[in-house]
Amino acid sequence: MDNAGLREQARTLFPGGVSSPVRSFRSVGGEPIPIVRAAGARVYDADGREYLDYVAAYGPLILGHAHPAIVAALAEAAARGTAFGALSPGEVELGQRICAATGLERMRFVNSGTEATMTALRLARAATGRDLIVKFEGCYHGHADGLLVKAGSGIATLGLSDSAGVPAAVAAGTAVLPYNDVSALETWFGQHGAETAAVIVEPVAGNMGVVAPDDAFLEALETLPRANGAIVIADEVITGFRLRYGLSGLLPNADLVCLGKVIGGGLPVGALGGRTELMGQLAPEGPVYQAGTLSGNPLVMAAGSAALDALQDGNAYARIDELARHLENGLAAAVRRGQVDACVVRSGSLLSLFFRGEPPRNYAEASSCDTQTFARFHRAMLDRGVMLAPSQYEAWFVSVAHSEADIDLTVRAAHEALREASPGPIAGRRVG
Ligand code: PMP
Repeated sequence: MDNAGLREQARTLFPGGVSSPVRSFRSVGGEPIPIVRAAGARVYDADGREYLDYVAAYGPLILGHAHPAIVAALAEAAARGTAFGALSPGEVELGQRICAATGLERMRFVNSGTEATMTALRLARAATGRDLIVKFEGCYHGHADGLLVKAGSGIATLGLSDSAGVPAAVAAGTAVLPYNDVSALETWFGQHGAETAAVIVEPVAGNMGVVAPDDAFLEALETLPRANGAIVIADEVITGFRLRYGLSGLLPNADLVCLGKVIGGGLPVGALGGRTELMGQLAPEGPVYQAGTLSGNPLVMAAGSAALDALQDGNAYARIDELARHLENGLAAAVRRGQVDACVVRSGSLLSLFFRGEPPRNYAEASSCDTQTFARFHRAMLDRGVMLAPSQYEAWFVSVAHSEADIDLTVRAAHEALREASPGPIAGRRVG
């Protein structure tokens, strides 16, 4: 079946014709692109078109698609059984690798980033005996009720601020502060320090586009919650094993860490971890309930271990950072040459091309981007065979499978696409 046929059938089956909202391409005025196969840095749609891929399944595919070691590990694991509902050696192996690389004393596997953050909040509330959670505007931590308040990712993409169906009482348990705003955090803790269970944060925000943390913000996160008896939850679902092998290192004293994406090698995964006594509050050792039929699934564990093996071996991170730097420089040159009101922000192999002149420091700034121009740019890049996430607010993910030639191709496409998408040179627009 071709693209049109699949879309047509999907529309009748799934809301928006998709299983996750951003995939609908709504914010860029397009239609979902059904992918039938992928290899390395490329994906292929049902019409047989090839695209150079920077979506990377929204982050997990740091090694590219269908990496041979992961495919082989999966085949081997599948032949031994696809689920046991029991402890298995694959869990122990991946758990040991993750704890060794991150310094987490204990951890639990779950099936998604959402489950990891949801459990971390429950644990933090139980451990502190307090109810209030602080999150930052534009950070996305999955779709648990209490975290769908001024979240990034699809919520930002679709221009929503919250979700319907979240009880007011649940939303009231989440305070939302601006990212990178130390004085807002100080004021909050001055007024509500004794009621605050936890602060949850993306060490580098990746869901309002890539927004880097200021040093002062990181320092405040390391000190203020602790001084007030609150728990810091580092949401490293994107950044963990993406910026380097292990955690980002930006919040070394976080009490709980959430992981996902890269650690599952492209299969559904999440994890949370922390100190022994805190993690020991989870059932069955402690009173905080959490469970999962398919948690620690042997296929996921095998893919995750194969991925971490490949990442540990050699200079994978140096290579993707170098490729991403090349891309950053090329895009910045294209922006200058085209006199476009845009800027490029990069953190490791995460990148954003924001259609605003200055890198945003928070969600208010990120949301002032010219999303119409982004939509035209996105279309123009697709026309040139480059697949970007269909949202201004999702990062571009560079993978080990990209080559220098791929980056050159992308930069050439961007030169043309910026010209095509831009309403006109900045100077011209100002005069006009
Ligand atoms: N936290 C962060 C920082 C994320 O980027 C995401 C997903 N993009 C999540 C949590 C939720 O993960 P999942 O989609 O696997 O539930």
